[in-house]
Amino acid sequence: MEWIYIKDMKKHIGEKVEFRGWLWNKRVSGKIGFLQLRDGTGFVQGVVEKSTLGEEKYKEVKKLKMESSLIVRGTVVEDQRSPVGFELHIDEVEIVHNPSEDYPISKKEHGIDFLMEHRHLWLRSRRQFHILKVRHEIIKAIREFYNNEGFVLIDTPIFTGSIGESAGNTFEIDYFDYGKVYLAQTGQLYLEAAAMALGKVYNLGPTFRAEKSKTRRHLIEFWMNEAEVAYYTHEDNMRLQENLVSYVVKKVLENASENLVALGRDISKLEKIEAPFPRITYTEAIKLLNKKGSDIQWGEDLGADDETLISEEFDKPVIIEKYPKSVKAFYMQPDPENPDVVLCDDMIAPEGYGEIIGASERIWQEDVLIERLKENNLPVEEYQWYLDLRKFGSVPHSGFGLGIERTVAWICGLKHIREAIPFARTLYRVYP
Ligand code: ATP
Ligand code: MG
Ligand code: MG
Ligand code: MG
Repeated sequence: MEWIYIKDMKKHIGEKVEFRGWLWNKRVSGKIGFLQLRDGTGFVQGVVEKSTLGEEKYKEVKKLKMESSLIVRGTVVEDQRSPVGFELHIDEVEIVHNPSEDYPISKKEHGIDFLMEHRHLWLRSRRQFHILKVRHEIIKAIREFYNNEGFVLIDTPIFTGSIGESAGNTFEIDYFDYGKVYLAQTGQLYLEAAAMALGKVYNLGPTFRAEKSKTRRHLIEFWMNEAEVAYYTHEDNMRLQENLVSYVVKKVLENASENLVALGRDISKLEKIEAPFPRITYTEAIKLLNKKGSDIQWGEDLGADDETLISEEFDKPVIIEKYPKSVKAFYMQPDPENPDVVLCDDMIAPEGYGEIIGASERIWQEDVLIERLKENNLPVEEYQWYLDLRKFGSVPHSGFGLGIERTVAWICGLKHIREAIPFARTLYRVYP
């Protein structure tokens, strides 16, 4: 008999199959029992009867604890009442492992601290299954997009000899005789070097920021996709970002809408996400916020609440461009029409999910870059290799960073970012 995954069982209606997986819940009475089964590809209800299994086996099944592991054999039977359209009528049960203890996550409601403490087990729940599937589809779509567009994947390093862009939130590590090095806050500077070698490049990897504030949008370790393109202007850059985000949403709707529906996501909101996206300047954003009752002043950075207020005005991601130079990183190209602002943009997700992308055209003139490093009190000598990129074949170039977990939280409709990554590292949690 063939071992078939739940996701493929629909093609085997009426056939006898073997299932290998786990029991996540059960209801067993005198003669008939309903086993809620999962195998990592989906969930299905299994039906057992005392008359088929025999007295002895039925008794054993009755004693199975939640999260027992089982191999069962039976017939796939069409059932319109089932959310997957079929059931498994079981005639053989092989018990691989029946836990001796009750499963810790067995109540309807558990507090978030308890769940995070048991994240290694919590991942087995339906909800987490659906989130992880969507995350997988998002990352798959990102890679596909870049492959289609002719980008080369460049893996940027995690240990970095210089502070990425701001000293405030870096993790310092002792690195042999070298002394202090830092965990990457971004791979951008390295990606810029790669763009001068290969033209269109991207990365996808973890980044680390010692974020001291507790928000529902910040993780300490998060995954970022960055892209960098030689000869791209600020305009080209914005177009690339909206094309990427539209592509990702489209692919997730194609490949994972069942998962989104199971999460209670309003799909119609995602169906509207198509490029081009609305664009406003930072200055317009400040005016809009003031009109909506905020007392934010020109020159202040937008906070999470400001981003939420702005997102209420749009049903697509909104691109806010040209922030004041003083609130942005040292490498951003000043706007030739107004040197107080830089050729940057943030993409703000709809429905209050905040900034998903930070982007800019990069300074490509060596002297301007040195001046900006000094203004930001960054040690120029540690950026020699980066300055070399402006000494040899320097060209205007642009790029951005997309937060993977922010994107997952938005597309899944999660209230908090901690569920958007398998094992979240937050201010007070590195276990499990
Ligand atoms: P924020 O303003 O929300 O703190 P940022 O401007 O510091 O974000 P960038 O340096 O622009 O972030 O990083 C690029 C992207 O990485 C952001 O647009 C966001 O999607 C994501 N990101 C940044 N910090 C975090 C974090 N601590 N946890 C999860 N994602 C993050
Ligand atoms: Mg930040
Ligand atoms: Mg920001
Ligand atoms: Mg940013």
